[in-house]
Amino acid sequence: MSYARPPFEIIRDPRAMRAHTEDLRRDGRTIAVVPTMGALHEGHLTLLREARKRADIVILTIFVNPTQFGPNEDLAKYPRDEAGDLAKARTCEIDLAFCPDASAMYPAGAQTFIEVRELQKPMCGASRPGHFAGVATIVAKLFHVTNAHVAVFGEKDFQQLAIIRRMVRDLDFGIEIVGVPIVREQDGLALSSRNAYLSAEQRTAALCLSKGLAAAEAAVVAGERDGAKILAAARALIEAEPLARIDYVELRDAEELTPVTTLSRPAVLAMAVFVGTTRLIDNRVLRHLG
Ligand code: AMP
Repeated sequence: MSYARPPFEIIRDPRAMRAHTEDLRRDGRTIAVVPTMGALHEGHLTLLREARKRADIVILTIFVNPTQFGPNEDLAKYPRDEAGDLAKARTCEIDLAFCPDASAMYPAGAQTFIEVRELQKPMCGASRPGHFAGVATIVAKLFHVTNAHVAVFGEKDFQQLAIIRRMVRDLDFGIEIVGVPIVREQDGLALSSRNAYLSAEQRTAALCLSKGLAAAEAAVVAGERDGAKILAAARALIEAEPLARIDYVELRDAEELTPVTTLSRPAVLAMAVFVGTTRLIDNRVLRHLG
């Protein structure tokens, strides 16, 4: 890098962040943003490292966004550890952390929301009404406030990534969206801040998600193209686990998220499964088309 990096800073005021990043842009710096809700794990750090490769300035945002939680969801108990998060994030050489309060992001009377009409409907959108309007709106606001050239998201939240890409395309946001493959524990469990809710027994049971995905993938590799049979292969593993309850397991077009009955183009096998009261999501893109 040909310039001295500025000292690390935490910014909480959206106007201060906007002013600061406008200055950085004026100075010719490129900016990458990684939006998160905190409780950082190796998955988030992988996104930060990817961002570090792609821009002069890396901004981590930590904001537990109330508008993407339903009334009976875990907003109040969502894990929060700002000091711990910042310590971890700084090992990835971030430049700025944006950690606003809810009142700073949603002034009284806020009533404007972005809806990506069709992509928000199925899958997690069906189980969590309003969730993706909350996501799209906060992400749009974070893009504005951080003036980023590039934003990095995980493929773990596959539908979220599809929605953000479509929002960026449809509304002419001048920002590049980068997707990063799912980071997993050695035994296959996708890293998630919500894994912290699991007991030891539930943690073992939670392996049924990644095992279900692997079983479906194995069926496809063996030549299966019938969507119902591919889904059945995944479901069997999950239904065999007494602590697990399926919210949905679906095979969908990887871009349009429309149902796929025969595998003839890239499709995502996506699932949400309750393990105890914890709702976990996972997915795998199936590309063996031959
Ligand atoms: P969250 O803090 O859970 O809202 O997630 C913030 C970002 O981290 C999103 O782009 C997620 O998709 C991404 N992320 C969460 N878990 C993982 C993971 N296991 N692998 C890759 N990215 C992840």
